[in-house]
Amino acid sequence: MMNLILLGPPGAGKGTQAKLLEAKFGLKQLSTGDMLRAERDAGTPLGKKVDAIINSGALVTDDIMIDLISNRIDQPDCSKGVIFDGFPRTVNQAIALDKLLAAKGRSLSAVIELQVDENELVNRMKTRVADMIAAGNTPRADDNEQTLRKRLQIFRNETAPILPYYQNKGMLQSVDGMMSMDDVESEITAIVSKPGAGPVSQPGGKLPVNGHS
Ligand code: ADP
Repeated sequence: MMNLILLGPPGAGKGTQAKLLEAKFGLKQLSTGDMLRAERDAGTPLGKKVDAIINSGALVTDDIMIDLISNRIDQPDCSKGVIFDGFPRTVNQAIALDKLLAAKGRSLSAVIELQVDENELVNRMKTRVADMIAAGNTPRADDNEQTLRKRLQIFRNETAPILPYYQNKGMLQSVDGMMSMDDVESEITAIVSKPGAGPVSQPGGKLPVNGHS
């Protein structure tokens, strides 16, 4: 079973790559953003609670997110493995994820960081919004420059500290997210296809230690 994390700022292309990996490896994409928007659109109590938060670009609390993921990966469609897209977003979530995977007899296979240029992300977002409007669709409430800048700042402050967390475990792999979609896909595929990709292939053959190391 393969369990991957795609890490990177909003708009880095995690969702696009997750969908490609889903098709290629039979994994299930778990986009926490999509899950929250589905709750909101269905008008569930959770959806009502998070509506204003996701529109503002702030983070939903760790407890809610950890619960959501913990329940979701127990579903049968996650049995071959998952791609976490948008989770974990804080070091707390990363620690909780290690614990809950261990409790379920799972482990992480790889953590792949998409490295991108922030100004380019703003341009990408503007292009995406223009394309949506041209196609007669309504862009997301958080797809505007001001909210994206706020989300990038939250990424730097809250999410980027996850990178050294996984680096210290010898699990972090970085890919240049400014390459073409195809090139990013081939690099990720190469990482994922390495024989024995996962915890046992770390340098020195040491298993990553859960929690403190
Ligand atoms: P994108 O795909 O554009 O990077 P997402 O769809 O992943 O953005 O996330 C949209 C919003 O959902 C976030 O700005 C945040 O409010 C909320 N959210 C998603 N995942 C998490 C998480 N793991 N922790 C806290 N909030 C989250």
